[in-house]
Amino acid sequence: MARLVMKFGGTSVADIERIRNVAQHVKREVDAGHQVAVVVSAMSGKTNELVGWAREVAPLHDAREYDSIVASGEQVTSGLLAIELQRIGIAARSWLGWQIPIRTDNAHGAARILDIDGTTLVERFERGEVAVIAGFQGLAPDNRITTLGRGGSDTSAVAIAAAVKADLCDIYTDVDGVYTTDPRIVAKARKLDKISYEEMLEMASLGAKVLQTRSVELAMVHRVRLQVRSSFDAPDAAPSCLRKDGSADTYPGTLVCDEDEIVEQQIVSGIAYSKDEAKVTLVKVEDKPGVAARVFGPLADHLFNVDMIIQNLSDDGKSTDITFTVPQAELARAEDVIRKAQKEIGFQEVKSDLNIVKISVIGIGMRSHSGVAKTMFQTLGEKGINILAITTSEIKVSVLIAAEYTELAVRALHTAYGLDGE
Ligand code: ADP
Ligand code: ASP
Ligand code: MG
Repeated sequence: MARLVMKFGGTSVADIERIRNVAQHVKREVDAGHQVAVVVSAMSGKTNELVGWAREVAPLHDAREYDSIVASGEQVTSGLLAIELQRIGIAARSWLGWQIPIRTDNAHGAARILDIDGTTLVERFERGEVAVIAGFQGLAPDNRITTLGRGGSDTSAVAIAAAVKADLCDIYTDVDGVYTTDPRIVAKARKLDKISYEEMLEMASLGAKVLQTRSVELAMVHRVRLQVRSSFDAPDAAPSCLRKDGSADTYPGTLVCDEDEIVEQQIVSGIAYSKDEAKVTLVKVEDKPGVAARVFGPLADHLFNVDMIIQNLSDDGKSTDITFTVPQAELARAEDVIRKAQKEIGFQEVKSDLNIVKISVIGIGMRSHSGVAKTMFQTLGEKGINILAITTSEIKVSVLIAAEYTELAVRALHTAYGLDGE
């Protein structure tokens, strides 16, 4: 028999009806003879509600208490699914992060998994029991509850799959796979049968929320076979795609796998966008050697992940503007660091802008083909969209533009790279 981890996201467990539907998907795999561990998210909207409550009590609050509050959503769904599985005749037991335990570091709110003891889970497999694990949560070295950052149940699932050496980790969500771009904003987006770990990693880190970035990183390191598929497909429509030896010919969703498993490699595989960025401009910075170090030194000391940087040419040869981007959630903190260093850096004022979006095109084919950036700039130029900043790496090109053009830009680029489907 094969060993399978099945993860269900928020919309897949949104209410009791949806939880019953999830149980039927689990039953299909159990009936096919597989060993199954399930990872669940909180009901959709629940985590936002919990975060809102914590903020309402105090906007700046103790991160350990935040974690204790927001981890509760997954406790409810794991218990409910365990009951439903028992009701339909499947031996099942719920597990919270601390009970396994899923050990993490102490970075509350965005903890990293350090170690999972798979012994209990494997014992349960051997007894024919389905483990229903609360995603998103772990246990800090001081035994307090941690959470893994928003979207973190994906990471819980992949880490468990690695710990129990699963043959496949299925991520069930509200779309039936990974698309060339977000299918909710581009109707012509095409489902990919396969995508490489590297490309998926870029897509996720550049904004495609279908998988948490960390989950792809872990899958890549531990060579976990990962599939994104829909929980909205009828549970009995397709038989289990896995054979008992863990192999399969076809997958209903998108397989995230090694580059060499992909026969037809496109130059550009996908387009992602991120509205989570903020642009910060330092106006009239003295234009002389060492100034960039004086700006970015303090930011680095405070562990900021600065992404795009541009320094304008100075008009008068004496001063210049320096612009960079940081995650929106960190804007206030970044401004604070910059203001505190104002004397040292020497600038007139700080301006920030939240109405921006980062659009990225991603593809392994860029390693060997030129002209990808040119097509991007031309396409945006033809639509009259101004580019505010640019960054490139081996397999991606990103630009910063005004947020109001997000959909126009993504759709135009999707067509320009020949990605449009039916
Ligand atoms: P879950 O609650 O199941 O974890 P998420 O909302 O986190 O689901 O992720 C699924 C969503 O990701 C989809 O509804 C879709 O709008 C979005 N998404 C963004 N980019 C892509 C993409 N390239 N392919 C598929 N889905 C994408
Ligand atoms: N419930 C958590 C969130 O909304 C984790 C997850 O769904 O993956 O971020
Ligand atoms: Mg998610």
